[in-house]
Amino acid sequence: MNLGAIYFSMEIIHTIGILQPYINECKARQLQVGFVPTMGALHEGHLSLIRQSLKENDITVCSIFVNPTQFNNTNDLANYPRTIASDIQLLEKEGCAVVFIPNENEIYPSVSFKTLSIDLQDLDKNMEGKYRPGHFTGMVTVVKRLFEIVQPHKAYFGKKDYQQLKIIQFMVSYFKLPIQIIACETLREPNGLAMSSRNTRLSAEQRKNAEVIYRALLNAKQNFFTLSITQLKNRITEEINSCKDFKVEYVEIADANSLKPIIDNEKINAMAFVACFAGEVRLIDNIHLS
Ligand code: AMP
Repeated sequence: MNLGAIYFSMEIIHTIGILQPYINECKARQLQVGFVPTMGALHEGHLSLIRQSLKENDITVCSIFVNPTQFNNTNDLANYPRTIASDIQLLEKEGCAVVFIPNENEIYPSVSFKTLSIDLQDLDKNMEGKYRPGHFTGMVTVVKRLFEIVQPHKAYFGKKDYQQLKIIQFMVSYFKLPIQIIACETLREPNGLAMSSRNTRLSAEQRKNAEVIYRALLNAKQNFFTLSITQLKNRITEEINSCKDFKVEYVEIADANSLKPIIDNEKINAMAFVACFAGEVRLIDNIHLS
């Protein structure tokens, strides 16, 4: 017998009725709770958030819930990858204490359940908010609901979904929730493509060609102080569109805090944001420019 081995078993919890006493017990024992909300189809990007939470907390809770109210496109929702068995294996291997996998009724218990009504101070006006109407209302509603259920000390979000991150930070300060939001760097494939659950829907050729997205963003960063904002946006668009099967939906250059589009003489704290289609699959990415 290997006395050094620790046999660890992760709790797989589907209901609030079971999760909450578990969390209460952890809190009564003064344990620090870290939380990583996801929609599953887990990849290394998600696992990097889990690992950071494991380092900074006593227990880590990961939720897997494909939230219907944040999908503005029924096809996208239907085609969203679902790999629950392998997700559970990955989380257990990492040492996650709890995976919370609620069904829709658990999160939205009655038809009269209200989506959150909150003025997001224009953080939701551009980019994803503009091209995916209703997305952020659905997202912020479910994250607030999950925060109320899990009541973590810290919650981890990826900068890959930068606008989402900013909106969650705002929501937490608006409702004065006692939760620290930790922003985590974007994990990329070796060719630069930002990891995403949706990448599994790309063909091998599209996945290879998708390196164009980060390359175009890096080129913009290199030329940020020599080209105008319009030139930079055009260059990113042209570079991506020149790739077979790829079509830009938007390119924006915006302030990293307010997310308002920036103009030429305000080149501080700027970020570039892009959304594009590779065939049917919608991809997003961003980069800090200055
Ligand atoms: P999702 O399952 O797509 O809702 O993502 C769950 C969390 O993982 C969000 O906070 C995302 O921003 C984060 N995430 C997704 N992809 C990446 C990535 N490539 N690198 C870092 N974090 C990521």
